[in-house]
Amino acid sequence: MYKPTPDLIKRLPKTDLHVHLDGSLRLDTILELGQEQKVRLPTEDKDRLWEMINADNASSLTDYLRAFDITLSVMQTEESLYRAAFELCEDAAAENVWYMEVRYSPMLHMQRGLPLTTIVEAVLAGLRDGKKQFGIRSGLIISALRHTDPKWSLRLAELAVAYKNRGVVGYDLAGAEDGFQARKFAAAFHLIRSNNVNCTAHAGEAFGPESIHQALHDCGAHRIGHGTRLREDGDLLNFIADHRIPLEVCLKSNVQTKAVDNIEAHPIQFYHEYGVRVTINTDNRLITGTTVSDEIALWVQNFDAGASDVREVIVNGFKSAFQTYRWRQDILSRAILEIDRLIAEETARHIQATGDKESTLVKRDRRGTSQKIEERRRHTDEHPAIRHAVEA
Ligand SMILES: [Zn+2]
Repeated sequence: MYKPTPDLIKRLPKTDLHVHLDGSLRLDTILELGQEQKVRLPTEDKDRLWEMINADNASSLTDYLRAFDITLSVMQTEESLYRAAFELCEDAAAENVWYMEVRYSPMLHMQRGLPLTTIVEAVLAGLRDGKKQFGIRSGLIISALRHTDPKWSLRLAELAVAYKNRGVVGYDLAGAEDGFQARKFAAAFHLIRSNNVNCTAHAGEAFGPESIHQALHDCGAHRIGHGTRLREDGDLLNFIADHRIPLEVCLKSNVQTKAVDNIEAHPIQFYHEYGVRVTINTDNRLITGTTVSDEIALWVQNFDAGASDVREVIVNGFKSAFQTYRWRQDILSRAILEIDRLIAEETARHIQATGDKESTLVKRDRRGTSQKIEERRRHTDEHPAIRHAVEA
């Protein structure tokens, strides 16, 4: 078996369920918007600007978040919000992302007096035109911020409810995790859930499993942003696996914010093998310097993951979208056909190039289901966090 190439990964249909609008601008766009709007950027030099924004130089999540001051300084007008959303569609579509959920916190775009409704509508218009132009489908997630007064989270929840069925598909809690408990935002999440709106929360990135516990049980999150430290609590890990709660994993970003020491130390492979519903996402295309294809390639290159694993994680992405079940069934069936077609095509090409008829992208798996389950269990059971099922 050989591994899928970066080129093949790029051609596969994909999702990005965790991407911040204000972290995903183009560098040139920041410079152009700065000039147009007469905003003083810390530098006009593109290389120097990249050095200041590039999260490879960050030392913690708090440090990582600083680059957003630069991007946000040029995202205070209707035109700039529209442009950011539209260009993000173009960039994601260029690597064959079929569906994307873009998130941002409208309260950070009020510095020049724009009303919250305009801030939402400008982004929705950009996403709609992005779909028309590039064919990519998307939804918008409104993020509340942990380090702000919880009364803001309620206003943003009301905003998400008002735009439900008009492009807003979910609600999120973001921002510095350490010292700001998710529990304080329970009222906003209650408003969201009682209006049948989906929600997610950043948790277990810069803080331990207690943060994930609160996101799930005090806030009722339907997905977890990151969940990197979930492995520290076996009970919670089992709960998340049993309830098929998706993790929005963002590998490179986790390395940059020091949520893990290095890529090899990331728990993604363990979660995947244990049966957690893992999705792979960018977090911030610009600040992290990544794409969905890069993230998947990073996983494949550093872990024992092949084409069938990539297929499973991509399928997880479509399954986890904040969209109706029927919509997901429809897009998923088309995505699977396309993935299988591309894998078969790549295998045929490889056989022709190498003359090796045995070469395959997908493991020829002759093991029965019970053997697979047994092997998976043996592989993951050694993990200290795992507790076992209790039956009467
Ligand atoms: Zn994030």
